[in-house]
Amino acid sequence: MSSERRLSRGERIVLASHNKGKLVEFRALLAETGIEIVSAAELDLAEPEETADSFEGNAAIKALAAARATGLPALSDDSGFCVSALDGRPGIYSARWAGPGGDMMVAMQRVHDEMGDSADKKAAFVAVLCLAWPDGTTRFAEGRCEGTICWPPRGDHGHGYDPMFVPEGDCRSFAELSSDEKNATSHRGRALTRFLKTCVSTDPV
Ligand code: IMP
Repeated sequence: MSSERRLSRGERIVLASHNKGKLVEFRALLAETGIEIVSAAELDLAEPEETADSFEGNAAIKALAAARATGLPALSDDSGFCVSALDGRPGIYSARWAGPGGDMMVAMQRVHDEMGDSADKKAAFVAVLCLAWPDGTTRFAEGRCEGTICWPPRGDHGHGYDPMFVPEGDCRSFAELSSDEKNATSHRGRALTRFLKTCVSTDPV
């Protein structure tokens, strides 16, 4: 299995996500490569259970399931919020900390409560992209964004834990940045830049 396998320009792939926001974001970012993206929702694919204990493992589960179901190369991403004082939690459980109602205020309050009065305010967002082919070949690209926790949460943009995270080199929270400003340094933006460099062929079609 070659670790250097790449996507060709103009190739058709499936995005292993039912999230419309991610579809728009990935289509925009891959537009200049000529890679055509269809979504798991458009193909009515089932969402596999994320049973692994790492971002890589869960990204691979999603991408391999979509690749095998469609016969197309598949791209997935798995991401989360890792808090130093909590030994990296919530990490892969970031979405689950919002409870069944998906209330991110509940998740942020839990992070705050579990941190107690810890002086360690360091945190990072992590995103891992997985590109998988139907024969089981996988490639990964990771991006991290380091920063600190702020409390109370502030800002109206973004999503998830954005209002309680201040990226290194800024004094505004992620939720106080425009989406262009956030994408320029975010974990997902960095993972995508690495993905384009390492997983997409530069040869013309
Ligand atoms: P998923 O990879 O889409 O399943 O995202 C996992 C969870 O991590 C999300 O539900 C959010 O709670 C959190 N998360 C991932 N990326 C971000 C981000 O850019 N900002 C805020 N929260 C995020």
